[in-house]
Amino acid sequence: MPATPSACRHCGIDQHEHLQRWSTAAGWHRWTPPTQEQIKQRMTNRRTRTAHT
Ligand SMILES: [Zn+2]
Repeated sequence: MPATPSACRHCGIDQHEHLQRWSTAAGWHRWTPPTQEQIKQRMTNRRTRTAHT
């Protein structure tokens, strides 16, 4: 599932459904704002997906 642009930096889960999650990369963590680069990348991915439908 593609992450939304504002999803967690570590695991890609949306802020409102994040609470506390474990990911192999980050371990236990709270929702962390993604970097500008991640937001840009995710928006690009989304646009690419939409173009195919
Ligand atoms: Zn996370």
